[in-house]
Amino acid sequence: MEQEQWAVRVKRNRGEEVRQQLIREGILDRQRKPRIEGEFLILPVISGIEGAERALFETRDPLPDLPRHELIGGIAIMLERDPAAAEQLLSLRPSLHTVLFPLSDVEGNFRTRRFEVLAGIPVTKTLCQEYGHRFEIDLSEAYFSARLATERQRIATMQKEGGQVLDMFAGVGPFAVTLGKKADRVLAVDINPGAVRLMVRNIRMNHAENVLPILADATSLPHMVPWTFDRVIMNHPTGALPFLPQAFRLCTPGGTIHCYVLQSAEGEAMTEILKYPVAEVTERYVRSYSPDRWHAVYDIRKKS
Ligand code: SAM
Repeated sequence: MEQEQWAVRVKRNRGEEVRQQLIREGILDRQRKPRIEGEFLILPVISGIEGAERALFETRDPLPDLPRHELIGGIAIMLERDPAAAEQLLSLRPSLHTVLFPLSDVEGNFRTRRFEVLAGIPVTKTLCQEYGHRFEIDLSEAYFSARLATERQRIATMQKEGGQVLDMFAGVGPFAVTLGKKADRVLAVDINPGAVRLMVRNIRMNHAENVLPILADATSLPHMVPWTFDRVIMNHPTGALPFLPQAFRLCTPGGTIHCYVLQSAEGEAMTEILKYPVAEVTERYVRSYSPDRWHAVYDIRKKS
């Protein structure tokens, strides 16, 4: 039986990307079957978001309860070490090639994790689509979180056309490549050779040739780079604060620094930040991390 409800219409070539985005935002209605109409895919959503329309959808046969997992491209990371459930997940989600179980938390200076393969192809490499960009990632070699996609878009929306951006802890380059579409130049630095190797591939794959990848320790940046930046990204939530001297040295007066931290109390990093020449600072919640800690960002405007 068909039922009318809210829907999002997208060109078919962007269908999978938008479907993943709606899943991340928690508004895709998984009880209804998407429909194809000519060159468009019509995706059912649970509320009338901007640009939504009304459409008729068939109801799906109810899916069995899936084991809890996080999706990154074609990989699912399961929270329980359950190979049978992993096989079930693999058979129910056609876009998956591998199911992993984390053997460690995000660890070390490179912020990577160790994994056991529970089902599928034994790899930690995959391709992740995000708002029109593609990122090649290797979860055991370099950090990547699909849960930061919305945050990357927020920063991209703030970026005017032109300008210089510094990404001090760039990883495989998701912030740098996203901002490269608007900025004149992005300097993207990481200390992990594996991350920089993947970043070079991602720059090429996304035609973001104005992103300059640099393998370096952010500590020495003020000695290496003779110019300043309108925007500085510091997404190293467990280790960014000690790099504030470098960030303020490299930020143009009146420019913006986005400093990410893991915290367990509101305003935890404020005292440290206010030691520097700050004109304005706004603190925002980004995402949950553990029961008592969350990922926060401080948007800091440096004094003119
Ligand atoms: N910004 C990337 C993203 O959003 O995917 C990566 C974030 S990851 C949490 C932090 C990154 O900082 C890691 O890739 C790590 O290798 C890098 N890193 C750690 N210490 C560094 C240092 N002293 N200089 C440059 N990069 C560093």
